[in-house]
Amino acid sequence: MLQRIPDRVDPRRLAEQGETLEGRIKLNLLPRLAPLLAIADGEAAFVLRFSRDKLHRLIIQLRVGAELVLECQRCLDSMVQKVDSEVRLALVRGEMEAELLPKELEPLLSGEGEYLDIAELIEDELLLGIPSSPRHEKQNCSRQMDAQAHHLPETELKEDNPFAILAGLRAGKNDN
Ligand SMILES: [Zn+2]
Repeated sequence: MLQRIPDRVDPRRLAEQGETLEGRIKLNLLPRLAPLLAIADGEAAFVLRFSRDKLHRLIIQLRVGAELVLECQRCLDSMVQKVDSEVRLALVRGEMEAELLPKELEPLLSGEGEYLDIAELIEDELLLGIPSSPRHEKQNCSRQMDAQAHHLPETELKEDNPFAILAGLRAGKNDN
């Protein structure tokens, strides 16, 4: 299915028509996300469903999937963070309306007649999928934190180290 998706859409019109928009977006076109990526040449796949619920709320169901290449904060090599998230947004015109929403609906502020920027919506969702300090799983990280654990713990060092024993004897003498 080839579908030309406009950058900005009228959510009210799409909801009346029960539209579904499906497509892909290049990650390097997302100005807040791209600087956080080690490599920004991938794409995100998305599905957006517009509808009205029984209470006549405008609902946008968004699903986003992407493989984000981040920099591991431990070894500074690249790592892939898979994001596959789904959110149900409800269009609201202000704080009051937002507070009335059940918790399974995320408020999305939009004035009457205002158009929606699809890329912004997708970017918001992808940003939520990035950990604040991304790291490889320990076994996959090229900088092994257990390198230090290979050294003998300090107590064993003291017992085996003749100098430490000597130091201990001297300390004993000084006490007398
Ligand atoms: Zn790592």
